Amino acid sequence: MKDYYAILGVERNASFEEIKKAYRKLALEYHPDRNSSPDAEEKFKEISEAYAVLSDPDKRRRYDSGGFEASDIDFEDLFGGFGSIFEMFFGGGRQRQRREDRYSPRRGSDLQYTLTITLEESFKGITKEIDIEKYDNCENCKGSGMAPNSKITTCPSCRGRGYVVYQQGFFTMKTACNRCNGKGSVITEPCPYCGGKGRVVKRKTVKVKIPAGIDTGDTLRIPSEGEAGLNGGESGDLYVVIDIKEDSTFKRQGKDLFVEIPITFSQAALGDKVKIKYFGEEVELKIPAGIQSGDLIEVKGKGFPEVGSGKRGSLFVRAIVKTPKKISSEMKKLFEKLSELEKKEQSSLWNKLKNVFVKKSV
Ligand SMILES: [Zn+2]
Ligand SMILES: [Zn+2]
Repeated sequence: MKDYYAILGVERNASFEEIKKAYRKLALEYHPDRNSSPDAEEKFKEISEAYAVLSDPDKRRRYDSGGFEASDIDFEDLFGGFGSIFEMFFGGGRQRQRREDRYSPRRGSDLQYTLTITLEESFKGITKEIDIEKYDNCENCKGSGMAPNSKITTCPSCRGRGYVVYQQGFFTMKTACNRCNGKGSVITEPCPYCGGKGRVVKRKTVKVKIPAGIDTGDTLRIPSEGEAGLNGGESGDLYVVIDIKEDSTFKRQGKDLFVEIPITFSQAALGDKVKIKYFGEEVELKIPAGIQSGDLIEVKGKGFPEVGSGKRGSLFVRAIVKTPKKISSEMKKLFEKLSELEKKEQSSLWNKLKNVFVKKSV
């Protein structure tokens, strides 16, 4: 982030008047129409940017606390309040158009928030509270921008027309009135809390109800929880994008849930019944005799619910046969006995294979 105070050459605690004075002086010095040095335009833009941020109490506060980003600069704000120097720069007509838009009701911006939840939370559904920083209606003036005893009066500069006409060389220029910014009316006393803008940056807690079955990338729209509108415009919406943290045990694929369980040789050979507990559910799983390591067992209706219908997918259990690393002497005897039996079966299997081999080579 650029040091806006250094750009304008003012102290960090400079008053608004000092900032305005410094800006005026530098803007006149570096205006590209007056200054022909090659970096004048760049410098002028930098000065304007610094002024746009430091002259706005909300933006200055956010900038001071480090929470301001260059993308926060509203270029309409940037080119809005500077008076004739910019009107000459951009041409009267375009500028007037911009100002009319500026004071018609404008819908607040939509906001996006990424919310990370656990797999269990997405399975069960949950209500979460999220903190967002946003432009909200100023409570002090209820969004009107006016101090309590303030009145709206006809702008004395333009007598309510919203524009002024002046002569420049051969041309007659018609530009938006600086005093009222093209509105035609002025507030006698702006709200001190929001500086007459009607909205302020606030931290707000929003409750978000997350339905069971929601998946990564799903987006919830929360109407009117975006930024407050301008000039009586409606609020934007808040979009909450769901991101599900990876689970170390369970994996999800659409509506199906996958888990691996370790089983022993004897469970694989003889079959067994085991209980699987997860996310408040309990499933009795039948391991069929003769299962191979890595085989999947499907339990229908025990996977994730579908948002809306609640219809559930399957739970897939992958049985992995684990070789024991340590065995007791009793188990060793049994394995040795088993081994003998296996050798007999294996030799008959080998004999069969030998026959196949012999036949083929003849
Ligand atoms: Zn206010
Ligand atoms: Zn006016």
